[in-house]
Parts: sequence; structure tokens; C-alpha cells
Amino acid sequence: MKIEKMLKRYRVDDGKRFRLKDYDPADTHGLKSEFKKEAKDLLADGVQELSRLQDTLAAQDRWGLLVILQAMDAAGKDGTIKHVMSGVNPQGVQVTSFKVPTTEELSHGYLWRTSQQAPARGRIGIFNRSYYEEVLVVRVHPEVLANEKLPKRLMTREIWEERYEDIKNFERYLTRNGIAVVKFFLNISRKEQKRRFLDRLDTPEKNWKFSASDAKEREFWDAYQEAYEDAIRATASEFAPWYVVPADHKWFTRLVVAQVLVDELKGLDLEYPKVSGAQKKALAEARQQLEKE
Ligand code: AMP
Ligand code: MG
Repeated sequence: MKIEKMLKRYRVDDGKRFRLKDYDPADTHGLKSEFKKEAKDLLADGVQELSRLQDTLAAQDRWGLLVILQAMDAAGKDGTIKHVMSGVNPQGVQVTSFKVPTTEELSHGYLWRTSQQAPARGRIGIFNRSYYEEVLVVRVHPEVLANEKLPKRLMTREIWEERYEDIKNFERYLTRNGIAVVKFFLNISRKEQKRRFLDRLDTPEKNWKFSASDAKEREFWDAYQEAYEDAIRATASEFAPWYVVPADHKWFTRLVVAQVLVDELKGLDLEYPKVSGAQKKALAEARQQLEKE
């Protein structure tokens, strides 16, 4: 199976003609569930490769990678992070989850808290939710926007377009500084979300994952889908592409995400630092000294 080819189908780097309805949440690229076992092996390969690439990323210390994960509840963000990053050196990765902003965070522009957490060179930073919430939950719930303490005259009908523009520019700025950006929308169906919610209610070990507001948020499903479609359409770019990943089958979601990350890292000119003549001499001297002991 040509994995690279498969990835193309989920990549959105020009949003002009993007329609969410063209993307099937249950898609598995024709792979049957019998393939699950092989998918596991493939995922393990991807994770191993990711680990190798991350090692080079850290050694070279020039590029960083920002990974953004957005999705409806229960689409599998946490599980994807857990499985995909499982083999990667914890020192090279940081995961930040963005929740309802604090009072302090609301006193700043909305990029303030996220830019503080953007990864340094040599590191992979994962955003579990992100500044995209500012054009998703905030757009779906006008009362959340009203709570943002913005001057009245800035709260116009253009605010979403303005936010898309600022977000796109922020991502361009990051990439121009050597911080590559890749964004995932884990695309779950409404039906599968219901099934997972019921599973969370039925399984005591999963009860903690469910909050009563989750079921309430489901009522806004269509508004969210529309907000996601608009956001992806406006912010998909060659320098910061979106991947719309089918999320009804977890094994497939994880496989795709791992492969995309491998692909993105391979696209950077990663290499171990070259040792100069003078450094080689110093290394040889150090060896001599050690051997003399
Ligand atoms: P969870 O990820 O399930 O722990 O939930 C975090 C909650 O924080 C979600 O309901 C998000 O919609 C909400 N959230 C994250 N960022 C923002 C934001 N910028 N403004 C308002 N709510 C947010
Ligand atoms: Mg939640």
C-alpha cells in the first residue's frame, strides 16, 4: 500500500473548494477492519521512524514542529497523542491542552497564551485544541465572544474573517522562523460520537471522560461543522496545511496522523550537525587523553 498517496487525499493546502461533506468520517482508504493487525504494525513502524526523525530534529536544532489537533468531543485527540507519540523521546515533545481561557488569558489577545507554548527549535509541540477555538466554540456561542472583553467597536460582522487572516499570518510568521506547522481535524461522525459517549457512560473507567456539557454541545453539531468548514477553507495553506482525518475508526486515524508527521518531518532538511575539521581534531585529542588514563 502506498501510504504517501493515501495521505494526499486528506491534505488540504488550498481551501478554495473545500467542502467537509466530501470527507467521509468512516473512510479507511478501502482497508477492511481485518487489516487492523497490520495497521498496528504499520503504526509501530511510523512511530519508530518518527522517533528517529525527532532525534535529528533535536540534534540539528534549527527546525521546530507545531502540531495542532482540533476535533469534536470524543473524536480521539487524546488517544491519538498517546499512541502516535508513544515511542518519541519525552524530552523532545511537549503537549499543551487549551481549555476555557482564564481571567489572565482573557486580558490579552488570544494568541498570547498559544504563542508562549509554541515549540522551540529542535522540539515538537502538540496543541490539544488551539487558537482555532477562537473561530469555533467562540463563533458557535456568541456569549463566549461577549465575555472576551473586546472593545465594542471591534466586535463587527467581519470578526471571523479578521481572525482567519490573523491566524494565517501567525502561522506564516512561525514557518518563516523555522517552526513548521501542521494541523489535524479529526473528523468524527455524529453517530460515532453518540456511540462513544454511551460507551463512556457505560464503562466506569471511562466515566471521568464524560461531562454533562458534552451532550449539550452535541446540539450545536451543525453549527460546529459549519464553523470547521469555514475555518479550514480560510486557513488551509501550503505552509500550514490541514489534514482532515477520518475519525470513526481509531486504528485508521492513528495510522494517518503518524504517517503525516513522518512525512512533514521528512519534508524538512533534517540532518545531524556536521563536525568541522577543528572539532574533529578536538575529538581526537579527547580520545587520546581518555586512552592515556
Ligand atoms: P476538553 O478539551 O474536553 O478538556 O475541553 C476544553 C474546553 O475548553 C472545550 O469545551 C473547549 O471548547 C473550551 N475552550 C478551549 N479554548 C477555548 C477558548 N479560546 N474559548 C472558549 N472556550 C475554549
Ligand atoms: Mg471534553
